[in-house]
Amino acid sequence: MQVEKTFYIETFGCQMNAHDSEKVVGTLIQQGYRQVETVEEAGYVFYNTCSIRDKAEQKVFNRLQHFKKDAGRGKVFAVIGCVAQQEGEKIFDRAPHVSLVAGSASYAKLPQMLIQLEAGAKRVTGLKFDSDEAFDTPFTRRDNPHRAYITIIEGCDKSCAYCVVPFTRGPERSRTSASVIDEARRLADSGTTEIQLLGQNVNSYRDPSATGWDFATLLDQVGGIPGIRRVRFTTSHPRDFVKPIIDAIDSNPNLCNHVHLPVQSGSTRVLDAMQRLYTRDQYMERIAWMKNARRQIAITSDIIVGFPGETERDFEETLDLLDEVQYDSIFSFKYSQRPNTAALQLHDHIPEEEKSRRLTIVQERQRAIQLRQSSALVGEVEEVNVESFNSAIGQWMGRTSRNRTLNFTHSSDEQLTGKYVRILVTRAGPASLVGQSL
Ligand code: SAM
Ligand code: SF4
Repeated sequence: MQVEKTFYIETFGCQMNAHDSEKVVGTLIQQGYRQVETVEEAGYVFYNTCSIRDKAEQKVFNRLQHFKKDAGRGKVFAVIGCVAQQEGEKIFDRAPHVSLVAGSASYAKLPQMLIQLEAGAKRVTGLKFDSDEAFDTPFTRRDNPHRAYITIIEGCDKSCAYCVVPFTRGPERSRTSASVIDEARRLADSGTTEIQLLGQNVNSYRDPSATGWDFATLLDQVGGIPGIRRVRFTTSHPRDFVKPIIDAIDSNPNLCNHVHLPVQSGSTRVLDAMQRLYTRDQYMERIAWMKNARRQIAITSDIIVGFPGETERDFEETLDLLDEVQYDSIFSFKYSQRPNTAALQLHDHIPEEEKSRRLTIVQERQRAIQLRQSSALVGEVEEVNVESFNSAIGQWMGRTSRNRTLNFTHSSDEQLTGKYVRILVTRAGPASLVGQSL
C-alpha cells in the first residue's frame, strides 16, 4: 500500500517535547513529507507523548482508540516520546494499528525508520539509549521567528522516587558549548531575540568539549550574543543550583530575572523519601541567594501533594513554605504512581480524595499570594516581548522578563508581535496583568 507523504503531529507534555516535535517536523520535511493540520488529511500520524503522570499517558491511548477501526484505515500511526520509551513494544499489543514506536533518544535514526515504514514494515521500533550525544539536527522547524528553544542537555541522572524521566529519557548527555553557541548565533542572525535553554536539569550541564564550561558560563555567554535580548532556562534542580547562576543574572541584563526552582515539598522528611537530595533548609538557602540579588528575581516552583506517607503535618510544612517564599507562580500536582519508580514500593499511599483536597488548598493559598504579588505591580512600568494579539478583546499579550503575562492596549494599528514594548501596569489578577503601552 502506498501511503501519501503527508503527516500530522500532536504533541503532549513539556517544553522539551514541544522542542523535540520541532526537530521531528524539520526532519520529516527534509525527508520530503508535508505537514497537514488534521489527522484526516494525513498519511502519517505522529503522537509525541508524555508519561509524567498517568492522565497524560492515557491521552494517547484515547486518541489511538478513536482511529482503531475505519477512521484509521490507510494511515500509518507512530507513537514517539516518553510513553513510547516507557511502554515499548507493548504499545503494538494495545494498539495493533501502530507501526512505529520510538523514544526521543532514537530521533537521530528517524530517516532510516521512515524508509522501513515506506517499505511497508508493520512494526518499527527505536527504543535504545545507544547514543551518548544529545539529538541535534540542522533541520529543526521553528514556527516562532522571535523566540526559540535550544536543548543544552538531555536525559537525567537523578532518581527522584516518583519520576519516570530517567527511564524515558535516559542518562544525561550535554551538547558541546560550541554547538549551542553556534545555534544561538544562527537564530540571532535570523531575527530571534529570546532564547530558552532546555534540559531536565540544566544545572548539571557540563560541556563535553575541552572548553569545559559549566551552566553559569554557558548562560552568560548565550546572553552576550549580539541580537539576543532575553535568555531563559528550565529546569533547575535545587541540589545543583549554584550561586554563580545568580551572579550571572545579576551582572547580565539579557538574562531574564526569573528562576524556576521546583521544590516538590516543604517537608525535609518527604524530600528525603522523594530522594530529592536536599533539605528544606538547603532549598531556602538558595531562595535567600535570589532574594538578596541586586535584580528582583521572580521565583516559580513545582509542588507535588499526596506523596506516599505525606502526613497532615508534612503538608502544613509545604503551605508554610509557600508563605515563606512567596512564589510568583507554581505548578501543583497530585502524586501519580508511575511504572518502574522507587515510590511504588512505599507504603501509606494517600487516597485520591485526600490528594484532591490538598491540591485545592495549595492552589487557593498560592492564588492569594499571587494576587498580592501582582497588585504590588500596579503603577509600575514593565517591558514585554509581545507574543500575540487577541482580536476578541482587542488586547496584545506579552511577557515580562519575570515571565508574567501582561495583556495591554496600544493606541495605533502597528504590528507588535516580536517587538519589545514598555507598558504601564493598570490592573492585576492572580494569573496576569493588564496595562497600556507607553
Ligand atoms: N526535572 C525537573 C525537576 O527536577 O524539577 C522537572 C521534571 S517533570 C517534567 C515536571 C514536574 O512534574 C516535576 O517537577 C514534578 O513536580 C512533576 N512530577 C513528576 N513526576 C510526577 C509524579 N509521578 N506525580 C506527580 N507529579 C510529578
Ligand atoms: Fe525527574 Fe528528578 Fe530528574 Fe527532575 S531531577 S527529571 S524530577 S528524576
